[in-house]
Amino acid sequence: MYDVNSRHAEDFINHEEILETLAYADENKDNVGLIDALIEKAKLRKGLSHREASVLLACDIAEKNEEIFKLAEQIKKDFYGNRIVMFAPLYLSNYCVNGCTYCPYHAKNKHIARKQLTQEEIRREVIALQDMGHKRLALEAGEDPVHNTMEYYLKCIDTIYSIKHKNGAIRRANINIAATTVDNYRLLKEAGIGTYILFQETYHKESYLQLHPTGPKHDYDYHTEAMDRAMEGGIDDVGLGVLFGLDKYRYEFAGLLMHAEHLEAAFGVGPHTISVPRLKRADDIDPDQFDNGIDDDIFAKLVACIRISVPYTGMIISTRENQKTRERVLHLGISQISGGSRTSVGGYYEPEPEDAKSEQFDISDTRSLDEVVRWLMEMDYIPSFCTACYREGRTGDRFMSLCKSGQIQNCCHPNALMTLKEYLMDYAAPETKAIGDRLIEKEVLNVPNEKARKIVMENLRLIEEDNRRDFRF
Ligand code: SF4
Repeated sequence: MYDVNSRHAEDFINHEEILETLAYADENKDNVGLIDALIEKAKLRKGLSHREASVLLACDIAEKNEEIFKLAEQIKKDFYGNRIVMFAPLYLSNYCVNGCTYCPYHAKNKHIARKQLTQEEIRREVIALQDMGHKRLALEAGEDPVHNTMEYYLKCIDTIYSIKHKNGAIRRANINIAATTVDNYRLLKEAGIGTYILFQETYHKESYLQLHPTGPKHDYDYHTEAMDRAMEGGIDDVGLGVLFGLDKYRYEFAGLLMHAEHLEAAFGVGPHTISVPRLKRADDIDPDQFDNGIDDDIFAKLVACIRISVPYTGMIISTRENQKTRERVLHLGISQISGGSRTSVGGYYEPEPEDAKSEQFDISDTRSLDEVVRWLMEMDYIPSFCTACYREGRTGDRFMSLCKSGQIQNCCHPNALMTLKEYLMDYAAPETKAIGDRLIEKEVLNVPNEKARKIVMENLRLIEEDNRRDFRF
């Protein structure tokens, strides 16, 4: 039976509830009165339930969809301004014992090169990432209890945080690793991870079992209840996501929101981020073999509906998507993007040899970080390298309450400008710097109060003189 508070996967991601939700959405997708009321409710910026949001997702009345897109754009502006947080993935190991049918790291793939970074290789990768300008990483690895142990991860995190190269430092390492125990989550928290990310892949249990035929990941309940264990272990920033294309997108959307509602109900804090990957071609994976691919229009609608349903949850898009798609969804709700990414194990320090490729998926946006930063600024976005919330302990419900009240803007906007300025000084190409300096000059006038504006201006000046104090709000 559906129970948002229950700790059992089958209760909080209840199949019957999702089917009823989809039927309700179908019945009401042309119900203009209800749709108007839901759009009005979403305008209060307190979110929508999975049932309400599913009606809007199903709605195919062009003018109502236009309103939904406009509202998503407005909510994005209200909560995130024009800032976009930058990050890069760092693949630690592609050893994996699971049989996921959509991922080239599956155990039966015998021709993909298997690698696990040594601590020395991590050093080289991290220095290469720091030399690009990255401050925030998402660590990635397959599931392999022999190769990818918790001890290995803890060592990696320690190594990553210890590397200070020129003005570079990784200040937030998020981690995307297999579902594990409360004790292990506690160890990750103590090691100083930022967000714990785990994609559900699909919320549809029957499909899940077929798509994960072998390995520990086959256990749907253990996987689905991972975020509960992570929170029990003290990790208060968790990142959800599904792999769109595996099952019907409306089912996944309802499941995703039910998962968010469950975390909020059970722990008082919803997900920190939601990622929206789509299935992509990779080594021995052909996305055409999966029937549920979604086109760019549906993808944009999904992003907009997630944005208005969970306004205070960050949204992430990776280089799985090309420049055009990323551009389209940025203003609809995306708040974090990767740039200059490699999806292989190693590859930042030096390109992988042709005969030893280890990528998890083909990258669609192959531009360098500097090109991505410049492109964002040309569209009037502020690329942000800020990690201050994490460093100041503004995580979990502390972060959420600041976010819900809108006060987080008072920190984020100035911090984005100062961290962008540092990037421009340390890493940017001359033309990128010139564009960025003009943007900062304009944006500093939008810092809300005079006292804060003066502080920011003073710090920008110190950064320009290379006399920085690492000041953040
Ligand atoms: S999705 Fe993760 S668990 Fe599955 S094969 Fe790929 S790396 Fe392994």
